[in-house]
Amino acid sequence: MVKANAYGVGAVAVCRALGVPFDGIAAAPDAPWGLGVAALDEAAALRDAGCRGRILCLTPLLRSELPRASALGVRPALHRAEDIAAWAAAGAAEGDGNRLRPYHLSIDTGMSRAGVRWDQVGTLRDALLRHPPEGVFTHFHSADDDIDSRDEQDARFVDAMLALDEALPAGVLRHSDNSAGIASRAQRSPGSLARPGIALYGGMFSELLGLRQVVHLRARVVDLRDVAPGETVSYGATWTASRPSRIATITAGYADGYRRHLSNRGEVLVGGVRCPVAGRVTMDMIMVDVTGVPCEVGDVATLLGADGTDCLSTEQVAAAAELSPYELLVGLALRVPLRPMPPLAPPRT
Ligand SMILES: *Cc1c(COP(=O)(O)O)cnc(C)c1O
Repeated sequence: MVKANAYGVGAVAVCRALGVPFDGIAAAPDAPWGLGVAALDEAAALRDAGCRGRILCLTPLLRSELPRASALGVRPALHRAEDIAAWAAAGAAEGDGNRLRPYHLSIDTGMSRAGVRWDQVGTLRDALLRHPPEGVFTHFHSADDDIDSRDEQDARFVDAMLALDEALPAGVLRHSDNSAGIASRAQRSPGSLARPGIALYGGMFSELLGLRQVVHLRARVVDLRDVAPGETVSYGATWTASRPSRIATITAGYADGYRRHLSNRGEVLVGGVRCPVAGRVTMDMIMVDVTGVPCEVGDVATLLGADGTDCLSTEQVAAAAELSPYELLVGLALRVPLRPMPPLAPPRT
């Protein structure tokens, strides 16, 4: 899963690291089957960078988006008969004749977010026979902390496939496991594919899966000062020196995804030593207490990840920020494309 710019880590760099094929670069032997995205703009960014891998868009698309998905070579997640017919038509319009572009059937087994309900898949039988899917998938809601719910969703998924029976092509790809699903199994994931996201980026389950921290957020020390007992640091004067202290200013703040909630709670590695954040995180800078720690202007500080033998894991920093590791990582690349605002439709009556 490389959605949300690979959870803020950078989708193109992640795809290259994973051995995905690019223009002029063959796939690595252990490259993933494909890439999971949540929006066509994400797929377009990968294609613009020359990415040749299979791309599956797991978020439902509007029917009006299907021609663009087809042009980008994206496999959509479909679950309505009319959309499946429209997808076949979009492929035909591009001159592929009768060759159906691949798509995956999305089955809702209890997440209640997207897909056809597991107990209503029969309504799609005709559409599937006419236009067979390449894959079928579902998504877990609590695989991280409730094995019984995972088992129930597993069973519903199997029921749905049994109900469809010959309406699914032989060898159809099956997938359900997100990172939590993978980590929750004693054995290999049961499907033909799995969809790890957060585990790839070291956010959760890393220890369980034997993965190491790959995300490091670093910035420079750009100023240093001594503050006397009683003097304060940063907005709101929430930190007061209790002893003669040395304060380093580091060029990262909440505009860079270093969350404001880490004010007076976060720790930063300077020369491999953990130093507490002193005072509020500001938009562009933080101050840390480096009293007794060798430190000079120009030194590199580590706000997330490893320095020397110590490591501020994504899980630890997220916990200090009272965020999920997902939100912390995605926040490292908070960027909403700005566009002229189209008029909103009048309210429905
Ligand atoms: C985001 C997502 C995943 C990956 O989830 P993680 O918890 O990050 O492993 C897998 N499948 C779908 C449908 C998703 O939306």
